[in-house]
Amino acid sequence: MTDQERIALSLPRLADWYELNRRDLPWRRSPTPYHVWISEIMLQQTRIEAVIPYYERFLAQLPDVAALAAVDDDRLMKLWEGLGYYSRARNLKKAAVQLMEQYGGALPASAAALRALPGIGDYTAGAIASLAFHLPEPAVDGNVLRFLARLTASSADVMLPAVRKAASETLRAAYPSGERAALTTEGLMELGETVCLPNTEPLCERCPVASLCLARQEGEPSRYPVRSAPKARRIEERTVLLLCSDHQYAIRRREEKGLLAGLWEFPSLDGVRSADDLAELFPEALSITACGSAKHIFSHVEWHMTGYLVLLPRPLPGYVWETADAIRESYSIPTAFKYYRNQL
Ligand code: SF4
Repeated sequence: MTDQERIALSLPRLADWYELNRRDLPWRRSPTPYHVWISEIMLQQTRIEAVIPYYERFLAQLPDVAALAAVDDDRLMKLWEGLGYYSRARNLKKAAVQLMEQYGGALPASAAALRALPGIGDYTAGAIASLAFHLPEPAVDGNVLRFLARLTASSADVMLPAVRKAASETLRAAYPSGERAALTTEGLMELGETVCLPNTEPLCERCPVASLCLARQEGEPSRYPVRSAPKARRIEERTVLLLCSDHQYAIRRREEKGLLAGLWEFPSLDGVRSADDLAELFPEALSITACGSAKHIFSHVEWHMTGYLVLLPRPLPGYVWETADAIRESYSIPTAFKYYRNQL
């Protein structure tokens, strides 16, 4: 049997299995294009359990494309606070504005047109196209690549774009249309999340395609997929400053480009600074106290942070000064600074 035939045989079994085994998730109850879009963007890099409360709050406040296109940036960031990867939220709004201008507030029923919107790549376009519009478009993510590699016992490196592209094309050739397209996409996702698990032994005895699976026949399915090692993250040392004057703390907005663009932050300095260094920088300081170290991991960089509370006799210019309660309630301070926000 060729790989193509093996994949074509497995897809209907996955769709049938999904109908019987689906978990009840909020975005599955009413899979409109808008709902699928928001949920898929939130689910990138984020666990399902973590996404559910965000998704429900987001939809309660921004129920459609028009509301998203019109939302104030600070309110949007507050709704996203804690989910990380804030460019996802910014792209959602940009795409919503574009949808209002080009499509009267609807999402287009075409994978190519969806892919042309900010923040929507091949995977998300395929998910919206199949789940909401019932088009024969696969949505290939890590779960699907892992499943395909195991099903066909393929040693191709799944980190290579050519391997992902080939997986998409093979699946597309076997994909059904209509409601079965949605069931197939859901079946592939569900299998990867609940049965054909990453980083551990898959639960093959519960798998609807076990009889077709070559990796299982070989006896060591967790050998697949093969992937090249990711690049090591760059480490950046930073010194975070809780500048405090009369129970108010200094915050500032980050630049509009780059990491955590446009979000609020506590001032910080490059490198590890000592209390003596800070005494030179803030000669008027009433006291300078170390307030702990913290680490935050982004996809390509790690921040190793050292913090100081610097008490000042008066607020310095160039910052916004707010009480701890106001900062917590009204400003979206990214999770990277959570340790220091909790110290306020
Ligand atoms: Fe994955 Fe096991 Fe099913 Fe093969 S049989 S697809 S390894 S769960």
